[in-house]
Amino acid sequence: MNEYIMTIDEGTTSARAIIFDHSGDMVSIAQKEFTQFYPKPGWLEQDPIEIWTTTMEVIGKCMAQSGLSPKQIKAIGITNQRETVVVWNKHTGIPVYRDIVWGDRRTAGYCDQLKAEGKEPMIKEKTGLIADAYFSGTKIKWILDNVEGARAAAEAGDLYFSNIDGWILWNLTGREAHMTDYSNASRTLLFNIHTLDWDDELLELMNIPKSMCPEAKESSGHFAYTNVPELFEGEKIPVEGIIGDQMSATFGQCCFERGQAKITWGTAGTLTMNTGDEAIVSENGLLTTIGWGVNGKVQYLLEGTVYNAGSSVQWLRDEMRFLEASSDSEFFAAKSTLPLGTVYVVPSFSGLGAPYWDSYARGTIFGMSRGAAKNDIIRATLDSIGYQTRDILDAVAQDMNEKIELLRVDGGAANNNIITQFASDILGINVERPSNVETTAAGAAYLAGLSVGYWKDEADILANRKVDKVFSPEMPADQRKRLYDGWRNCIKALMVWSEGEKEFTK
Ligand code: ADP
Repeated sequence: MNEYIMTIDEGTTSARAIIFDHSGDMVSIAQKEFTQFYPKPGWLEQDPIEIWTTTMEVIGKCMAQSGLSPKQIKAIGITNQRETVVVWNKHTGIPVYRDIVWGDRRTAGYCDQLKAEGKEPMIKEKTGLIADAYFSGTKIKWILDNVEGARAAAEAGDLYFSNIDGWILWNLTGREAHMTDYSNASRTLLFNIHTLDWDDELLELMNIPKSMCPEAKESSGHFAYTNVPELFEGEKIPVEGIIGDQMSATFGQCCFERGQAKITWGTAGTLTMNTGDEAIVSENGLLTTIGWGVNGKVQYLLEGTVYNAGSSVQWLRDEMRFLEASSDSEFFAAKSTLPLGTVYVVPSFSGLGAPYWDSYARGTIFGMSRGAAKNDIIRATLDSIGYQTRDILDAVAQDMNEKIELLRVDGGAANNNIITQFASDILGINVERPSNVETTAAGAAYLAGLSVGYWKDEADILANRKVDKVFSPEMPADQRKRLYDGWRNCIKALMVWSEGEKEFTK
């Protein structure tokens, strides 16, 4: 009887269950979206109960479709949208509030206060993060401060918190195991990434009782057994892996060694670089985070995000109405007639992130002549993904003091050959696209499989890696310099404009 590994992938908009075989191929997949709530501008919530019932549904569907017996599922791995946080009553299983999603900005004011009080250097030193509303800690504090009775219940030891991974694990195990992994813990703003412990000073600062914290463990290892009569015909399957989504994609891309990096070009673009056992403090506004813990060893990552990658293609499609589908961008960009570096699009619709950090910047187009046309704007938009990737990779290289030789890519926009070739040209290095672009789900499966000996070691997993295509730089060095210098000039000009905008809002 063949054996398989299941990944439960808790995305921001949907839950998925995926079954992998030993060669890392998917044999069954089920997916379902859940509701997003926008109670106020800048607020973003979901219903934890709906996430759990949706998860049960996709697990059932994935199993039914596969025709496998639950006994053939050797282990389960969980990967999840990071930072999104649930607070629930451990006796009743009822969340005290909806889960607050990573992108929610309601605690931005409190984060400004932390900065004004001079707390950011201490936060950065311990957690590798900045004082930003993204991370779970300030969201937990908001729930305790704003939901009636929550603080008293927390102080009485009745409440638990976790990112979505821990909420799903607790439910999967019949309301038993309150655990998370180091990668998820490292996104809460409450976890010391050097000592691998919940940090008393940070918990005290945000007034969060320690009894709420899940037990933080290695990403690969035994967590607990499933214990839900409606799932797996009541069979108890071990959960053997938990990891945050971007870290999981890094593991799924087999970036096991220091110096190996990937970027996921989805809606946003997240670049992660394995820095080995060294937690490098960035001088360029990148985050330091835990990638995973396996076999008593923790690997750290540097992380930088391009806010608008695939979303800039959606803008071409939905606002400019230049495209029917995102994938059409490749066809039209190929018809652009102006030389590269004539038109530049800077799609900083919501500000510039690392390494510029300018929240007043907005999208702009440079270099329009009377003859500049739709296809030139499309081409320049695709190229902006490459320029922004270089901005981040240069920052990473500087922080590491190392030359980076190769970048692995995945996510929807990585299917576009113009984007991928241009990234290689402007980075001046090889860019590698794997055949299996489901790297996020694969990472969690690999970690779970490693724990139960389904895959022996990292070399065994590496043998599964299939490369679709390696893109090599074709652009002469002087053209690369000319184009990238032009991009930097655009950013400079844009930041002069945004300085003025900042003044207007005073
Ligand atoms: P997410 O997980 O963030 O939803 P995906 O990895 O599914 O993102 O990628 C979807 C994004 O990629 C969308 O923003 C879409 O516009 C973009 N995209 C998908 N296919 C292409 C393509 N062939 N060319 C350019 N952009 C694409």
